[in-house]
Amino acid sequence: MSVFDRFPTVRGVLQEKADLAKKSWFGVGGPAEILFIPEDMDDLVLFLRNVPEGFPVTALGAMSNVLVRSGGIDGIVILLGNWFKKIFVEDGIFEVGAAVSCRELATVAIDSELGGLEFLTGLPGSIGGALKMNAGCYGSEISDALVEFEAISKDGRVRWFKVSDVDFGYRTSGIPDDLIITRAWFRGLQNVDYVISRKTNEIIRKRTENQPTNKRSCGSTFKNPEGRKAWELISEAGCRGMRVGGAAVSEKHCNFIINDGSATAEDIESLGIKVADKVQQVTGIKLEWEVICLGKSVK
Ligand SMILES: Cc1cc2nc3c(=O)[nH]c(=O)nc-3n(C[C@H](O)[C@H](O)[C@H](O)COP(=O)(O)OP(=O)(O)OC[C@H]3O[C@@H](n4cnc5c(N)ncnc54)[C@H](O)[C@@H]3O)c2cc1C
Repeated sequence: MSVFDRFPTVRGVLQEKADLAKKSWFGVGGPAEILFIPEDMDDLVLFLRNVPEGFPVTALGAMSNVLVRSGGIDGIVILLGNWFKKIFVEDGIFEVGAAVSCRELATVAIDSELGGLEFLTGLPGSIGGALKMNAGCYGSEISDALVEFEAISKDGRVRWFKVSDVDFGYRTSGIPDDLIITRAWFRGLQNVDYVISRKTNEIIRKRTENQPTNKRSCGSTFKNPEGRKAWELISEAGCRGMRVGGAAVSEKHCNFIINDGSATAEDIESLGIKVADKVQQVTGIKLEWEVICLGKSVK
């Protein structure tokens, strides 16, 4: 008997022991026990309403902020496919599928001559992942432009939330882990007094100058503690260039851990732990991970 005999018949992709490493920005990690890529919203609803007991559900986006350990993720991983990659614009409001990349939305905002979303060009994640993390940069966060979002609970109930229903903070949204974000609405600013494409290009230039954008990483490893920059503390603690196996603290931006091509997930996680310990020893400040480590380690 195949494990799939216990699952509902779906129109999307249902795969056992599915490789996640190739999909992830770090380029490492073990498989998903079961991967489901729904064909559309109805397929997702039907699937979730009929998931057999004992299978935890994890939603992932572009995997630009998660480190999956080598033992992989137990249960079901849901990735939203093409149906969730649509953008509509009307009266200054963007309706955006959760699998749309932040960069794509920034590009559509330029074409629509609507401002306020330029910072999204610097975020490699999806709209769903960015909302869950309340991702942001250069003084803006994705919740600043959010009007409302749609999500589905892991038992298959579709729900809608206004921005005020959720407790957004620095790199945290308070969106319960039980919800899979499927769609969101953002407000663009009309008649801004700057050239939107110029501001967007300026952000791309700054990031290329200051970050190892051509290396495999998940962006900032640690959150900035109140009043300090994590990279300054890491530099002060002498961790720039520190290595474990194929993982290294970037010389260019020392809050980035990069995979030189040979790192395992465990190299990356061990290096993060080593850096945080050293920072605490030297500065007395405990760094909090921004990257989310998921799944089982292989001993
Ligand atoms: C080079 C680089 C630079 C970066 N720079 C920045 C930066 O400046 N600022 C910043 O904030 N981040 C930055 N990041 C991190 C990352 O891009 C953001 O956090 C991003 O928004 C995560 O989106 P994702 O789709 O990749 O989510 P994932 O990494 O796939 O997931 C992140 C979290 O969101 C959850 N999630 C994903 N999709 C959904 C969904 N549809 N519904 C519910 N939960 C979901 C996951 O379970 C997980 O908990 C950077 C990353 C890289 C690689």
